[in-house]
Amino acid sequence: MDNNGSQKKDFDVITVGAGMAGLYMLHKLRAQGFSAIGLEAGDDVGGTWYWNRYPGARCDIESLDYSYSFDPELEKVWQWSERYATQPEILRYLQFVADRYDLRRDIRFSSKVERADWDDSTSKWRITTANGDSLTCQYYVMATGCLSLPKEPDVKGVERFTGQTYFTNRWPHEGVDFTDMRVAVIGTGSSGIQSIPLIAEQASQLTVFQRTANYAAPANNGPVRPEHREKLNADREAYREEGRWSRAGVPLPRSEEPYSSVNLEERQRRLEAGFAQGDLLTINSSFSDLVTNAAANESVQDFFRDKVRAKVTDPKTAEDLCAKDFPLFTKRLCLETNYFKTFNLPHTKLVNLRRTPIASITETGIDTTDESMEFDAIVFATGFDAMTGAIVAVDIRGRDGISLKDVWEEGPKTYLGLNVHGFPNFFTITGPGSPSVLSNMVVSIEQHVNWLTAAFEHLRKEGFQTIEATSAAQDGWITHVNDFANLTLYPVANSWYMGANVPGKPRVFLPYIGGVDTYRQACNEVVEQDYLGFEQCGTSGSRCNEGVIRFVKPDVQMVLDAIAGLEQPPLDTLSPIQAREQIEANTANRAPGPEVGEVLDGSLPGPAGSLNYRLYRPATAGPHPIVVYYHGGGWVLGHASSDDPFCRYLCTQANALVISVNYRHAPETRFPAAVEDAFEALNWIGNNAESLGGAPNKLSVAGWSAGGNLATVMCQLALKQGGPNINGQLLVCPVTDCDFSTASYNENAEGYILTRNLMEWFWNQYCKAEDRKDPRASPLRAESLVDLPPAMVVTAELDPLRDEGNAYAAALQNAGVIVEHIQAPGQIHTSLTAVDMVTSANDVRQAMSDAVRAFAK
Ligand SMILES: Cc1cc2nc3c(=O)[nH]c(=O)nc-3n(C[C@H](O)[C@H](O)[C@H](O)COP(=O)(O)OP(=O)(O)OC[C@H]3O[C@@H](n4cnc5c(N)ncnc54)[C@H](O)[C@@H]3O)c2cc1C
Repeated sequence: MDNNGSQKKDFDVITVGAGMAGLYMLHKLRAQGFSAIGLEAGDDVGGTWYWNRYPGARCDIESLDYSYSFDPELEKVWQWSERYATQPEILRYLQFVADRYDLRRDIRFSSKVERADWDDSTSKWRITTANGDSLTCQYYVMATGCLSLPKEPDVKGVERFTGQTYFTNRWPHEGVDFTDMRVAVIGTGSSGIQSIPLIAEQASQLTVFQRTANYAAPANNGPVRPEHREKLNADREAYREEGRWSRAGVPLPRSEEPYSSVNLEERQRRLEAGFAQGDLLTINSSFSDLVTNAAANESVQDFFRDKVRAKVTDPKTAEDLCAKDFPLFTKRLCLETNYFKTFNLPHTKLVNLRRTPIASITETGIDTTDESMEFDAIVFATGFDAMTGAIVAVDIRGRDGISLKDVWEEGPKTYLGLNVHGFPNFFTITGPGSPSVLSNMVVSIEQHVNWLTAAFEHLRKEGFQTIEATSAAQDGWITHVNDFANLTLYPVANSWYMGANVPGKPRVFLPYIGGVDTYRQACNEVVEQDYLGFEQCGTSGSRCNEGVIRFVKPDVQMVLDAIAGLEQPPLDTLSPIQAREQIEANTANRAPGPEVGEVLDGSLPGPAGSLNYRLYRPATAGPHPIVVYYHGGGWVLGHASSDDPFCRYLCTQANALVISVNYRHAPETRFPAAVEDAFEALNWIGNNAESLGGAPNKLSVAGWSAGGNLATVMCQLALKQGGPNINGQLLVCPVTDCDFSTASYNENAEGYILTRNLMEWFWNQYCKAEDRKDPRASPLRAESLVDLPPAMVVTAELDPLRDEGNAYAAALQNAGVIVEHIQAPGQIHTSLTAVDMVTSANDVRQAMSDAVRAFAK
């Protein structure tokens, strides 16, 4: 039955938009036996490729990749004529798809959706269009596109111009002939860069108004590359699957090598090869760190700028065309064909709006602060209100009438970029919080459509009517999306990825940058865990596996993955000597930590022989406050220099003399030998503070893990024994008790480097069972903590020692001690001290060094 013009008013699914996403959604829904209709504002299918008909409009992902993969037969019957197909060809393709699967009969065109209201009593959405249609559905899907709502030009006087005005994203279907016209183009983003060379071919005079210069690589367009076609044809499914599990949705090898790890010659070779390849992704994939390492990025920026200088004859114009305001790749790289060379033509001129802004558009042209220019036509290539614009343009009201626009006032909130808490059965295809615009979008569209239609199928089978993200799951996902973005240079740029192109739009990173592969994995795991974080409800009850899909910080996860990749035996299955060797080998290539003024190795007299120490002195003038530092390693592993990067960090950031001391290790010497050594070292350093270059009476202690245990035990002993005077204690993931029954031991028993087995192994090496309750081993069990020095206690969420650390912080507080307590979410036992490796802990580390500074005041 044809839904297009029929009187049918209630559907299982209503999809808004008949672009690539809407078309595939309809096809898939129909195949699964759902009643469905598409509502489309335009008068035909195609979406992006229906609206953007400007000269030079093309895709920038190669057409072989930028095409549907859901039907192998479709892939065989459609052949692309060019590497990067033109807009007319892509539109023909989408029309071909609509015909082939007879989709138009279920699409109502010229139907702009204006309003959508959730009705809790019927568990349905009511959808209202500008034509006055009112339809209901169980599931409401916005396939309205990430780049579909044109951004209003924010230039004064647009309405005054009496010549012809064009917008690249709403181009006349009959085309435009610019022959003999004086044309202005405002905007040099992707659409500007594509259209300017072709407009210049016709116009008698072309003036380009540029606010921000963009990085562009040559498209090197031509026929489809034979080797590309051969690769696809050799094993179509394997090729597509590789794309689905790639970073950006295109099968491409990805380098694991940082930019600085290869020599100059090799760098240049890779950059030239990537540039000559003529695509968006190869250069970025040639090194592992171009979007995370500012110095590497800067160096490749220079490479791009030199290419512009080589192409553009006039040096001033060339300089103006060089992108300088944002890191490379943090806005979508443009592909150009004759763009830069167009500025060598005598009738083409560039106006740098940073130097001479537009004062106003006038009846006859454009006035800048510098001159008045007359034009016959103005072309606005000013882009889109990206990712959220088309969604919030509809007045969407969820549970209790809450407005999506209000909920998103400070930035979009979604779970997986698919659903929003408070809006049951409402979905976005390639919504904010999903890879979307950072990917080959067909791959992301197919993944979302497949995920959603499988979810509808699941709900139908299980007898549920509604599905909705929980608030906790959504918050967790938003945190994860931001954590990933913050590892990169993307948030630095004023890009449309950040919403920065639209005045008043919140500055929030909109897509998910973790990669198509990582994202797909997360979505799959949500399903495997019975739709983790989704509440599923039906007439006979509801079900919810509450939880957060990604709670480990992304950079911590990378470290965990790297360690897992080593396939080493667990430390607790080794002898202590083997365990020490394994740890030494693993730390050999870690990030070194910051430069300090001086590093000195020395020894001091201990109770049973001399103890080595390593002293870190700031480059600033002394005397400095002293921090006596006790290293981690479960009283079994490590040494004075084993926490070297963290000691360097504390030294430079807290401007303190950090002295990391050795203590005797178990099992060779067991408790209380380590305590005795640690205390002797503390006394010796206190007594020799001045000769070491330290400020007298400015002595604090710090330690991580077992070292945290020793640090606070020192505070307890010093108090009992009348000295030395300790100003403060920094305890990072400290061992404070011998109780293995805490929730954190159970939750993280197998998890994150420090396992329950390993911790038990450490205790077994260190301390006889009958001694463990001694407060010198379990300082939480001390009779009193009153009068201990001020403390900063830092605990990590995913650490078996979390709860005992938290308990110790609480006990100190109860005893009247000044305590700053940080509980670091998503961090593990080893990540807080991993300077320059785990940047998500930078804030916590900064707080630690601030605390150490404060101890000395
Ligand atoms: C010039 C240009 C080039 C691009 N090139 C590439 C590329 O090479 N590779 C790539 O991966 N991506 C590219 N993109 C991104 C492109 O948008 C996606 O690849 C893809 O076409 C999006 O399909 P879609 O169906 O999700 O959205 P769209 O194609 O944007 O379709 C959304 C549809 O929803 C309709 N709609 C919106 N709101 C309403 C409403 N309220 N009521 C009714 N209908 C509504 C719109 O009219 C539109 O037809 C490009 C985008 C542009 C603008």
